[in-house]
Amino acid sequence: MIITMKEDATREEIARVIEKIKALRFEPHIDTGSKLAVIGVRGDTSKLEADEFYQLPGVASVARVSKQYKEVSREFRSRDTVLNIGGHKVGGEHPPFIIAGPCTVETREQVMLTAAEVKSAGAVALRGGAYKPRSSPYSFQGLGEEGLKILAEARETFGMPIVTEIKEIGTLDLFAKYDIDVYQVGARNMQNYDLLQKLGQVGKPVLLKRGPANSIDEWLLSAEYIMANGNPQVILCERGILPPIGSKLRYTFDVGAIPVARELSHLPVIADPSHAAGRWNYVLPLARAALAAGAHGIIVEVHPNPTEALCDGPQALKPARFRGFMEEVRALYASSQA
Ligand code: PEP
Ligand code: MN
Repeated sequence: MIITMKEDATREEIARVIEKIKALRFEPHIDTGSKLAVIGVRGDTSKLEADEFYQLPGVASVARVSKQYKEVSREFRSRDTVLNIGGHKVGGEHPPFIIAGPCTVETREQVMLTAAEVKSAGAVALRGGAYKPRSSPYSFQGLGEEGLKILAEARETFGMPIVTEIKEIGTLDLFAKYDIDVYQVGARNMQNYDLLQKLGQVGKPVLLKRGPANSIDEWLLSAEYIMANGNPQVILCERGILPPIGSKLRYTFDVGAIPVARELSHLPVIADPSHAAGRWNYVLPLARAALAAGAHGIIVEVHPNPTEALCDGPQALKPARFRGFMEEVRALYASSQA
């Protein structure tokens, strides 16, 4: 349930509505991003009467959100959410937010070299996994804390916010210690509800990838887990769904999910063409499609020496190709503004 206050509602009137919500044993949630005060009522409100609130002074409207996801929905917030990541904006009408870097943090030199390259080409944020969810237990699992340390050093050196995957609750303290800028939830963890709930309590943006076998509704409900637990900073990321037999790509990039997610939700929606493609030469065409479909940004894998990469080498762009990629991104954005 969403209670919208009148434009001239006083602080006392807003406080009275909040008190009333609490008295009825629900949890109020105030949306500070809107011009009007909008108060969400968290919990199972199916038996709650709108009349309880209509009567109160200062209340303009009381609406039920018809979707299962509430705070994620456009009904809760009609305007696009814009997030600030290390001084850069993602969402709304802002230029594409580009996150680039290796799949996996391998060595300090590899990260520093890649960061220098992607920064000079125009990327805003640096990616790299320190905790890798690998299909095989024999594959490289990531450097762990050492990887976070290397990323933090790259952030200091190049002034780029860092995006890295959180695999499990046990590493939350380490993520806080290195002040990770964006917590990535990988496709495999999209429905790890314990983790999502905990991420509701971190004061950092969460980049939530869509699971390859998950519907758009399930994806948005996972975002709701984070928001309903107190963290409004969620970025949705489409990274490809299960491909049909015989597909030549690693996954099938669900480009249509981008306008759908943008219609259903106010959250920023970005795309990961690297994992969808699985091969470096398909990454740019998929990124073009994503931006044309309304993506607010791209996360893309770049490696200085893809043939030596410990993970996802075949889909990594070399730095020189990433330069060309950024030129295309800029040109696409410029033509969309013309
Ligand atoms: C990654 O970003 O390297 C990754 C593991 O992605 P996904 O969760 O989409 O497979
Ligand atoms: Mn990867």
